[in-house]
Amino acid sequence: MRTKVAIIGAGPAGLLLGQLLQGHGIDSIIVERQTPDYVLGRIRAGLLEEGTVNLLDKAGAGARAHREGLVHEGVELAFGGRRHRIDIKATTGKTMMIYGQTEVTLDLMNARKASGLTTIYQAADVRPLDFDTDHPRVSYVKDGTTHEIACDFIAGCDGFHGVSRASVKPPAIETFERIYPFGWLGILSETPPVSHELVYSNHARGFALCTMRSMKRSRHYVQCSLDDKIEQWSDDRFWEELKRRLDEEAADRLVTGPSIEKSIAPLRSFVAEPMRFGRMFLAGDAAHIVPPTGAKGLNLAASDAYYLSEGLREYYDEKSSAGIDAYSERALARVWKAVRFSWWMTQVLHKFPDTDGIGARIQLAELNYIASSKAAMTSMAENYVGLPF
Ligand SMILES: Cc1cc2nc3c(=O)[nH]c(=O)nc-3n(C[C@H](O)[C@H](O)[C@H](O)COP(=O)(O)OP(=O)(O)OC[C@H]3O[C@@H](n4cnc5c(N)ncnc54)[C@H](O)[C@@H]3O)c2cc1C
Repeated sequence: MRTKVAIIGAGPAGLLLGQLLQGHGIDSIIVERQTPDYVLGRIRAGLLEEGTVNLLDKAGAGARAHREGLVHEGVELAFGGRRHRIDIKATTGKTMMIYGQTEVTLDLMNARKASGLTTIYQAADVRPLDFDTDHPRVSYVKDGTTHEIACDFIAGCDGFHGVSRASVKPPAIETFERIYPFGWLGILSETPPVSHELVYSNHARGFALCTMRSMKRSRHYVQCSLDDKIEQWSDDRFWEELKRRLDEEAADRLVTGPSIEKSIAPLRSFVAEPMRFGRMFLAGDAAHIVPPTGAKGLNLAASDAYYLSEGLREYYDEKSSAGIDAYSERALARVWKAVRFSWWMTQVLHKFPDTDGIGARIQLAELNYIASSKAAMTSMAENYVGLPF
């Protein structure tokens, strides 16, 4: 097989990249280790920046998001027993959209199918090869037989545990990492959300977040210990703990119900530099991870796919390497700003093991400052809604 761009991984980064390239007349083959159902079953992100929605439109996969997604103009911060609204639209002129990652993935998969492009699912032992030469290849095993794809470029869109980044050894790659001393316990339930916007709560018992996938389906999180096991958290225990961490009005409005998914996720900041190695590029979680507090992971995967697709368009249309040469630097500049913002939101909203009296009061002072200063509110809002790309 031969293609221009061999993409490893059919998550949001790989699928979006494939569609954006297709829009520029550049063909691609995607190799994915899981089945489509497995990929679609992963409950993850739910908040799209306006720029990400625009990219879905550009990729020909935005129609259903506009019909079914919930447009949000603000977000609420709960602290000191009260909720304070940050008016994102008034401060930035932009909005966000609630639309689940599972739906984004489904729409992109359908667009890819409609374009007649090849995706190889259940590909085992995928390997990016010879990417430091002019003749890169991707090999994989399917039904016991080894296959090879010859290509011009490889896009490593295979997530944090993928093979692409792992194929590059130091000193060609440098990594930066911070692991946070807590996790997020999340549940999905067929219950209406507490508020029509997201509620982020800073509480003495720990952080909590009320978000949603629709006006009938809620996603809630509480900060938990890294040692906690799912079995220790019955639905009743979860709802009790969440209520304690909300302001009185939100706690009264909380509608509880059986969980349809429950998981614990560790929180981590991670960046690999650079994001290009000869003829292989990294995009999305393959290159960076942020704690979900700022809702940036999926959105960064989208901006990487955009930068890379534009660089490759320039390469094929204008016979210029300028775009692909600048890819790593352009993408990393935006990534680091999102890493900073996600770290900052995590820092100000969570209870750390060493959060003492003074630490807790400094957090409250900072949250009060955001809620009362137009400058501070605008700074938070423009980062939350998504920096331009
Ligand atoms: C619990 C949780 C909650 C989150 N919440 C949010 C949120 O609210 N907002 C937000 O913006 N982000 C959130 N994120 C992050 C977001 O889900 C990711 O940033 C996003 O999925 C990144 O997309 P990706 O395509 O880069 O990687 P992935 O979605 O990880 O996709 C990578 C794909 O590559 C495949 N793959 C892996 N290894 C191989 C291999 N060797 N060969 C072939 N294929 C391979 C995988 O099966 C997968 O399909 C959350 C993540 C988690 C885990």
